[in-house]
Amino acid sequence: MPHPDNPYARLPSVDSLLAHPDMAGLKERYGHTAVVAAVRAELAERREALKAQADSAPDTERLAADCRRRLEAEFAPSLRPVFNLTGTVLHTNLGRALLAESAAEAVLAVLTRPSSLEYDLAGARRGDRDDHIDGLIRQLTGAEAATVVNNNAAAVFLLLNTLAMRKEVIVSRGELIEIGGAFRIPDIMSRAGAKLREVGTTNRTHLKDYVEALNPRTALIMKVHRSNYAIEGFTATVPEEQLAELAHKNGLPFVEDLGSGTLIDLSVHGLPKEPTPQQALAKGTDLVCFSGDKLLGGPQAGILVGRKDLIGKIKRNPLKRVLRVDKMTLAALEATLRLYRSPELLSRRLPTLRLLTRTEAEIRTLAQRILPKAQAALNAHAEVTVESCRSQIGSGSLPADRLPSACLVLKPKGRGGGRALDHLAQAFRELPIPVIGRLEDGALRFDLRCLEDEAGFIDQLGLLRL
Ligand SMILES: *Cc1c(COP(=O)(O)O)cnc(C)c1O
Repeated sequence: MPHPDNPYARLPSVDSLLAHPDMAGLKERYGHTAVVAAVRAELAERREALKAQADSAPDTERLAADCRRRLEAEFAPSLRPVFNLTGTVLHTNLGRALLAESAAEAVLAVLTRPSSLEYDLAGARRGDRDDHIDGLIRQLTGAEAATVVNNNAAAVFLLLNTLAMRKEVIVSRGELIEIGGAFRIPDIMSRAGAKLREVGTTNRTHLKDYVEALNPRTALIMKVHRSNYAIEGFTATVPEEQLAELAHKNGLPFVEDLGSGTLIDLSVHGLPKEPTPQQALAKGTDLVCFSGDKLLGGPQAGILVGRKDLIGKIKRNPLKRVLRVDKMTLAALEATLRLYRSPELLSRRLPTLRLLTRTEAEIRTLAQRILPKAQAALNAHAEVTVESCRSQIGSGSLPADRLPSACLVLKPKGRGGGRALDHLAQAFRELPIPVIGRLEDGALRFDLRCLEDEAGFIDQLGLLRL
């Protein structure tokens, strides 16, 4: 028998805690095994705490409530929706493009039922999963053929591995880019088994640089879109047409990694121009690859378009099987591409374009509507104002261009400086739908360009734990 003065002897047993009336509901929800494990873990933790400090043991009621909280925390998803108020629309760390409603519905439709993924319904025989998007991409880009892989990094890798294994690829030194998250052209090149042949300088590369680098081991001439930086001043690059001509004269393909690669002329929507795959193909590029979840506004994917014979080779590479996309991606991509068939409706239906084309006036009106509610919620803790700001497109698209927008600026009241600011930012991250902003100049800034669920944002302000 434990000593009666020993405080942790007064903790209930596992069985008596499991007999608490709340436990039936928890078992229904989480299952017997998880509930027993939570009860044991809770009691073990309490026992340790009581050993360290001779407090009185909590009653069963309190322990049952703690077990419930423990289970809720354990079963809460780690990957969760958030409010992206960072001011970067295509934020890689926050999941890049948001799918259009029709794309989300298409994903849902194939998730819990069998689908025609690799089945040709007309001929009742085996089909090719690329067939679901091949026609659409060909129509939209004018390419002879297309295929899709896991992401654009995979597209670049597969292209190089298929067409340049143990051979040389000529790339300008001004295009040896690193994209956030460990995508570096030289590294991908060597892992793909190709040898990088750098030409020119960081700011200037001329046609003769390419000509001089050509040799019998050359497999490709490659151009890489400088997605996330700009070179200005004394610069020179060789136009695609000339590189294509040089490659073709030497019996070689000319390929281009476009990075973002939108399918439309963004200037029609008042946005800065970004090269399109159709333009690249028209200039003689034999193969073009680009991302699915950047400006295209679809799921994570890498899309390769171009000459039929080259796409055919890529599809026959055994690594295509390694890098292939699943049915969710294909469903989302097909639905996204279909939206491009109705270009005049695109800025309404495609979230990426919808967010990018919101005007400052529209965003400011939204900010003014939210302002009094935010002021009331933060009353004693922070001063809230509305300011102009500039949003970024993100994901390496159009790095030099910024879109005029409006933001809520939260400045902690009183002293506490950086700590108070961190505390404020943390309180927003701890909300049921975490709110992610930007810390800048001693303030927490929420760029409202990407806020569409206004009511959802306002509703949880009352839950802030400041
Ligand atoms: C973004 C980007 C990539 C990588 O694309 P992911 O789809 O993120 O894999 C490759 N090349 C360029 C030029 C890019 O901008």
